[in-house]
Amino acid sequence: MNLIKLTIDGRPVEVEPGQTVLQAARQIGLHIPTLCFLEKCSPSTSCLVCLVKWKFNGQSRMVPACATRVQPGMVIESETGEVHEARRTALELLLSDHVGDCLSPCHRICPLHLNIPEMLRQIQAERWQDAIMTLREALPLPAVLGRLCHHPCENGCRRGAWDQPAAIRDLEQLVAERDLQAPEPWLPVPKASTLKSIAIVGSGPAGLAAAYFLLRHGHGCTVVDRRPAPGGSLRRQVEEGALPGWILDREIQQLERLGLQFRLGVELGGVITVEGLLRGFDAVLLCLGELRPGEAASYGVALAGAALRIAPGTYQTSVPQVFAAGSATRPAKHLVRAMSEGQAAAESIDRFLAGQDQSPSKEFSSMMGRLEKSEVEAFLELANPAPRQSRTCEGCGAFTDAQAHVEAGRCLHCDCRAAGNCRLQAYAAAYGADPNRFREQRRPFCQDVQPGGIIFEPGKCILCGICIQLAEQAEEPLGLTFSGRGFDVRVAAPFHRAIVEGLQKAGAACVEHCPTGALSFGSKFGI
Ligand code: SF4
Ligand code: SF4
Ligand code: SF4
Repeated sequence: MNLIKLTIDGRPVEVEPGQTVLQAARQIGLHIPTLCFLEKCSPSTSCLVCLVKWKFNGQSRMVPACATRVQPGMVIESETGEVHEARRTALELLLSDHVGDCLSPCHRICPLHLNIPEMLRQIQAERWQDAIMTLREALPLPAVLGRLCHHPCENGCRRGAWDQPAAIRDLEQLVAERDLQAPEPWLPVPKASTLKSIAIVGSGPAGLAAAYFLLRHGHGCTVVDRRPAPGGSLRRQVEEGALPGWILDREIQQLERLGLQFRLGVELGGVITVEGLLRGFDAVLLCLGELRPGEAASYGVALAGAALRIAPGTYQTSVPQVFAAGSATRPAKHLVRAMSEGQAAAESIDRFLAGQDQSPSKEFSSMMGRLEKSEVEAFLELANPAPRQSRTCEGCGAFTDAQAHVEAGRCLHCDCRAAGNCRLQAYAAAYGADPNRFREQRRPFCQDVQPGGIIFEPGKCILCGICIQLAEQAEEPLGLTFSGRGFDVRVAAPFHRAIVEGLQKAGAACVEHCPTGALSFGSKFGI
């Protein structure tokens, strides 16, 4: 058979006649994004995310790679700024009409980005081990935050628009203290050792948080503090009633179990200097708390007023290997903010030590904004109607397991079941798509919830038709179809029947191959 020769981005390719540009690109390992395309289905060219530029006879045009057959001598461009711009526009058009939150509002608002709805589902299912893993994934000292955090996440909780927000911090306290009382509380497994080490000056909330994340990255960590016991303001300024000493001590032991070393009773500027630390460590992080007047003058880093000057986003001082976070860089802040700065500084140091670009990578998150009452009602369908549970007193024992079960069940699960596994989200991040560029009035949120079955969210459907084709291939007795006209077209089962009735056999395949979170299983709600 005569093969067809073409070039893609200047690289020669030979493929069999009848193949598409997408197949030719895959043959040379070039990734062209697709949303509405699935190998075993015929192309619908509805998303146009796979656009490439075809150049011929001094002319050119954008064509969808998934549906364009190769021709002899074809010249294709895929990875140029112009093609990327066209793909970005295609994504922005899809997002202009997209109704969904990739992340729940509480998850976005938590300065440490705790996946709250995931933890609440685990609590509700009494999967305590999973719940502590979710908690420790994000929070460096969860039992301390479970007592002291000012819980900004609860201000953003959607349940609050109905009656009262979910008692997120109290649930956090229960999960963390349950675990901390175990003979061997759970710890994440750190990455392999990098053989790098970091000195952190200051053992308050920012310093301990930074240490937790640096240790998990496989770096060695030594915390230096001028006081005889670690904890900084947590030990000095918080009363025993609000934070019992055993909780702070056990949380610090957790860090030691991860490999943290302490050098206590040693003052910066006395026995040790920043310069001296740099001779023994690969980087230094200053988490000194509020500076005393004139304190910073001898540290050898530039100041902004009375505070240490850092570059926005990287926490780097005027000396490249020296970083700073917490109250020494800006006035006193909430505990959780200080810890999130410690974390961000740790991530920046990790990128610095790996020789990578230090600006954090951008993630994409679709947002619905304020909901109408009827939309909140659609969410409430799956939640426990009980009022917010309360503990017997502030600062005393945590919820009982039974209370926790009720409270976790009050969550509306505002996150998207596909987040982290959604191609629309992944490409929107990769191409820097702006969801608001073409946005007008959004469609109302609604979901078809089928007990024990599939959840369909029309607002996330990109009308690719993959589910319709898969149902046809599975020879579904009823199947699915497009119904309605113009802007009102949507996927539906014929004769006004439920989606789940149209997907007796192909349900799992449709959920797996739906390129967004429009189709999902409701199992996470326990229904
Ligand atoms: S379908 Fe994808 S883009 Fe939409 S909310 Fe879910 S994860 Fe985000
Ligand atoms: S209802 Fe649940 S998922 Fe939604 S914001 Fe509140 S805690 Fe988060
Ligand atoms: S529901 Fe069907 S048509 Fe809509 S995006 Fe998912 S697979 Fe495509």
